[in-house]
Amino acid sequence: MKDADIAYFRDLLLKRQDELRTDSGASAEKRKPVELDQQSVGRLSRQDALQQQAMQNAQEARRNAELKKIDVALVRINESEFGYCAECGEEIARARLEIDPTIARCVTCAA
Ligand SMILES: [Zn+2]
Repeated sequence: MKDADIAYFRDLLLKRQDELRTDSGASAEKRKPVELDQQSVGRLSRQDALQQQAMQNAQEARRNAELKKIDVALVRINESEFGYCAECGEEIARARLEIDPTIARCVTCAA
């Protein structure tokens, strides 16, 4: 893969990493334990709050999983393995990397 292409994908990965970290920071407040104060929060809104929190936690887990994949992709860039299938060593189609630059397998090996 050409240096310019590597730079392009590294940039994509770093931008996405930044986005995910920003989202994670922005939602930290919403993931705090829900106050169980009977007087200020009614039973229904407390359930709402718990549901909201569960949703936020699920989103955070997805973000963390994606951040891990981005880390792996960045390591593969540093080791000049990026763009090549981790299984067969063939070049991964660029269109495939455009959709998801964290992909580490060619279409054949992923199937
Ligand atoms: Zn392969």
